Amino acid sequence: MPDTAAHLDGNCLAGPLSEILSVEPTTAWWRCPECARSGPLAELHVYGPEPGLTARCPGCAYIALRLVREEGHIWLTLGSGTGAFRFPVA
Ligand SMILES: [Zn+2]
Repeated sequence: MPDTAAHLDGNCLAGPLSEILSVEPTTAWWRCPECARSGPLAELHVYGPEPGLTARCPGCAYIALRLVREEGHIWLTLGSGTGAFRFPVA
Protein backbone atom coordinates (compact mmCIF):
# COMPACT_ATOMS: atom_id res chain seq x y z
CA MET A 1 0.00 0.00 0.00
CA PRO A 2 1.47 3.36 -0.98
CA ASP A 3 2.09 6.01 1.66
CA THR A 4 -1.12 7.98 1.35
CA ALA A 5 0.04 10.68 3.76
CA ALA A 6 2.52 12.12 1.24
CA HIS A 7 0.65 12.93 -1.94
CA LEU A 8 -0.28 15.77 -4.24
CA ASP A 9 -3.80 16.46 -5.43
CA GLY A 10 -4.95 15.76 -8.98
CA ASN A 11 -4.35 19.35 -10.08
CA CYS A 12 -0.66 18.49 -10.55
CA LEU A 13 -1.73 16.23 -13.45
CA ALA A 14 -3.27 19.13 -15.38
CA GLY A 15 0.02 20.16 -17.02
CA PRO A 16 1.18 16.76 -18.28
CA LEU A 17 -2.35 15.70 -19.25
CA SER A 18 -2.95 18.89 -21.21
CA GLU A 19 0.22 18.10 -23.18
CA ILE A 20 -0.91 14.61 -24.22
CA LEU A 21 -4.60 15.40 -24.66
CA SER A 22 -3.86 18.16 -27.16
CA VAL A 23 -1.87 16.05 -29.64
CA GLU A 24 -3.25 14.23 -32.67
CA PRO A 25 -4.55 10.93 -31.18
CA THR A 26 -3.44 8.85 -34.17
CA THR A 27 0.18 9.62 -33.30
CA ALA A 28 -0.20 7.68 -30.06
CA TRP A 29 1.71 4.44 -29.61
CA TRP A 30 0.24 1.60 -27.60
CA ARG A 31 1.90 -1.35 -25.86
CA CYS A 32 -0.13 -4.38 -24.82
CA PRO A 33 0.46 -5.43 -21.20
CA GLU A 34 -0.72 -8.95 -22.01
CA CYS A 35 1.28 -9.97 -25.11
CA ALA A 36 3.79 -7.07 -25.29
CA ARG A 37 2.80 -6.24 -28.88
CA SER A 38 3.20 -2.56 -29.65
CA GLY A 39 2.14 -0.31 -32.46
CA PRO A 40 0.25 2.80 -33.42
CA LEU A 41 -3.31 3.47 -32.33
CA ALA A 42 -4.51 2.79 -35.89
CA GLU A 43 -3.58 -0.90 -35.59
CA LEU A 44 -6.02 -1.55 -32.74
CA HIS A 45 -9.17 -3.47 -33.63
CA VAL A 46 -12.22 -1.36 -32.76
CA TYR A 47 -15.66 -2.81 -32.10
CA GLY A 48 -18.87 -0.86 -31.82
CA PRO A 49 -21.39 0.30 -32.54
CA GLU A 50 -21.34 3.83 -31.24
CA PRO A 51 -21.95 5.25 -28.72
CA GLY A 52 -19.73 2.58 -27.17
CA LEU A 53 -16.43 1.64 -28.80
CA THR A 54 -13.97 -0.95 -27.56
CA ALA A 55 -10.42 -1.03 -28.93
CA ARG A 56 -8.62 -4.35 -28.62
CA CYS A 57 -5.07 -5.55 -29.17
CA PRO A 58 -4.81 -7.12 -32.65
CA GLY A 59 -2.55 -9.81 -31.23
CA CYS A 60 -4.46 -11.10 -28.21
CA ALA A 61 -7.74 -9.10 -28.01
CA TYR A 62 -6.78 -7.50 -24.69
CA ILE A 63 -8.88 -4.36 -24.18
CA ALA A 64 -6.75 -1.28 -24.82
CA LEU A 65 -9.51 1.21 -24.14
CA ARG A 66 -13.23 1.73 -24.07
CA LEU A 67 -14.91 4.96 -25.09
CA VAL A 68 -18.57 5.79 -24.58
CA ARG A 69 -20.16 8.93 -25.91
CA GLU A 70 -23.22 10.38 -24.21
CA GLU A 71 -24.91 13.76 -24.31
CA GLY A 72 -22.25 16.30 -23.33
CA HIS A 73 -19.64 13.74 -22.23
CA ILE A 74 -17.23 11.08 -23.32
CA TRP A 75 -16.30 8.34 -20.89
CA LEU A 76 -12.83 6.85 -21.28
CA THR A 77 -11.57 3.68 -19.65
CA LEU A 78 -7.95 2.73 -20.22
CA GLY A 79 -7.19 -0.97 -20.24
CA SER A 80 -9.63 -3.62 -19.15
CA GLY A 81 -10.12 -2.41 -15.61
CA THR A 82 -13.06 -0.70 -14.06
CA GLY A 83 -13.44 3.01 -13.46
CA ALA A 84 -13.52 5.66 -16.12
CA PHE A 85 -12.67 9.26 -16.81
CA ARG A 86 -15.55 11.49 -17.90
CA PHE A 87 -14.57 14.33 -20.24
CA PRO A 88 -17.00 17.14 -21.04
CA VAL A 89 -17.47 17.72 -24.77
CA ALA A 90 -19.34 20.34 -26.73
ZN1 LIG B 1 -1.96 -8.13 -26.84
